[in-house]
Amino acid sequence: MKKETSEKPVAQPSEPDHKRLGRELDLFTFSDLVGSGLPLWTPKGTLLRNLLDDFVWELRRKRGYEKVEIPHITKRALYETSGHWDKFKDDLFRITTREGDEFALKPMNCPHHTQIYARKPWSYRQLPQRYANSTMCYRDEQSGELNGLSRTRAFTQDDAHVFCRESQVKEEFLKIWDIIQEFYGVFGMSPKKIRLSFHDPKHPEKYLGDKKRWEFAEGILRDIAREKDVETVDGVGEAAFYGPKLDFMAEDAQGRLWQVATIQLDMNMPERFNLTCINEKGEKERIVMIHAAIMGSIERFLSVLIEHVGGAFPLWLSPTQARVLSVSDKHADYAKSVLAELREGGVRAELDDSNETLGKKIREAKGLKIPYLLIVGDAEVADKTATLEGRGGKVGAFPLSRIIEKLREEIRERR
Ligand SMILES: [Zn+2]
Repeated sequence: MKKETSEKPVAQPSEPDHKRLGRELDLFTFSDLVGSGLPLWTPKGTLLRNLLDDFVWELRRKRGYEKVEIPHITKRALYETSGHWDKFKDDLFRITTREGDEFALKPMNCPHHTQIYARKPWSYRQLPQRYANSTMCYRDEQSGELNGLSRTRAFTQDDAHVFCRESQVKEEFLKIWDIIQEFYGVFGMSPKKIRLSFHDPKHPEKYLGDKKRWEFAEGILRDIAREKDVETVDGVGEAAFYGPKLDFMAEDAQGRLWQVATIQLDMNMPERFNLTCINEKGEKERIVMIHAAIMGSIERFLSVLIEHVGGAFPLWLSPTQARVLSVSDKHADYAKSVLAELREGGVRAELDDSNETLGKKIREAKGLKIPYLLIVGDAEVADKTATLEGRGGKVGAFPLSRIIEKLREEIRERR
């Protein structure tokens, strides 16, 4: 578990700020009564989170992942076994039950997931087991460190753990690599650079496991990076205490470099929890564990994405995809029927039939970064059409069925 890092240079005042945009677009809020670092998600923001999470799930489902679910608290014993209690006890929110037992809110999900794997013996034929779980985690960050969605006390990891044999690591890494490329590619943020976060041979005391296993694991990661022919940088000493990592670095529209996704190879937790499979010879074989969150946390990813697109989300991701604007009162009935048809056609649409001028309605909708406006006045009512205006300007007047078809195609292709 690594604290999120970024290499963000000092922001310029003209740069988009996700906190301001989040407020203007009504995506999330904070409350003094709930506490700092604990974002509350509005209906629009929740939609956005779910759409992103569904996209990651779609990519995982195709590759054999299954969803699991876990409680948000655990007995202290789980983290003592995993080794996290020692390392992270100061970051934990702790709870004492009425019977005096000590529990903690989960700061990560891996230890819980090991116990799902450990529920029964596995044949090598049943591996890999791939568990996906988007769920909130809690860390008691110092209040001075909290910052919008970039650093919070409650955050949602789009987490997954693969339990597999050493011989399956490479194939599983490549699958996750494809998911990362496909996911970030949709936002024009394909990772260009990979950091090979390896152990520091000068400080073996910082890591668990013997030298041979580390060299084996790092060899696999280096092979994968070589095969993929990407720019790599060596991060000696950047490994987790339990295993080496591939850190994906992507550039946003402002030219800032972010660490966006990580794949970790873990030889330690399977050891501590005694996770095995029965191999071809009928013997117990130690398995390995791969940790991979695609967005990292939905909160942090959104802090990057909101600024990357300046609040103007692609159509498929926009909480409101279209707004119908009536020119005057007498077009209100027709505008309502246009709205109903859009919704029927699977487009997330709203209606502005207020008494404001058309110019003001357009300005307001554009301020909210709504991708498409459908303007209806005398001509549109007469012709049974709507005049479509996108972010790039006026597209033209079309029958509604054509507009819906165009929008649906764009949504389907995630353009
Ligand atoms: Zn994990």
